[in-house]
Amino acid sequence: MIGKGYCVQADLEKKLQAEILGREPGNSILTCIQCGTCSGSCPLADAMDAGPRALFALIRDGQVEQALRSNTSWYCVSCYQCMVQCPQQIPITDIMYLLKQLSLEQGLVPRDNKMPDLYAAFERQVNLFGKVSEALLMADYGIKHPLDVMANAAAAVKLLAKGRLHLVPRKIEAPRRLQAMIDAAGQKEHAR
Ligand code: SF4
Ligand code: SF4
Repeated sequence: MIGKGYCVQADLEKKLQAEILGREPGNSILTCIQCGTCSGSCPLADAMDAGPRALFALIRDGQVEQALRSNTSWYCVSCYQCMVQCPQQIPITDIMYLLKQLSLEQGLVPRDNKMPDLYAAFERQVNLFGKVSEALLMADYGIKHPLDVMANAAAAVKLLAKGRLHLVPRKIEAPRRLQAMIDAAGQKEHAR
């Protein structure tokens, strides 16, 4: 179920709909034939408030607030299974990124959705080391969500014992160069 909160005004909802459908990649939602192949092939569809097909139907129907409050884009693991299968070649995974960005910008992420905190911890890791250290990622995320980390402590110990978890982060050769590339990509995106 999608959490309750304040309601986005109808004109803002229309504006958001126009923003999503007015440019790439969101405009391809208009070519969706609602066949459901994406939702049928998505490994996370059962955990999502709405599968990709239903999410796109909400957006086309003008129920953008409900779409942006849903957990769907946040639960997307970017496996690209839906994109490979879509008969309309809609860039579904790319659209999920756009929806995440918009829901953050509009303050529509429900409080019980912890995924933005995990994404933020991930980003900090990449900025520092150029790659992710699972141990540090969980330590960073655990500052806000210690119970989640404690619940996975036993699994972490097992992974550590098998040498699959590294406590000391490993850097790529030039993390600053990667950061420069990420910054440039961000500026390009903002200029669109
Ligand atoms: S597979 Fe493509 S066309 Fe079919 S419902 Fe999903 S997005 Fe729409
Ligand atoms: S890319 Fe995302 S929406 Fe598409 S199948 Fe994978 S998890 Fe589901």
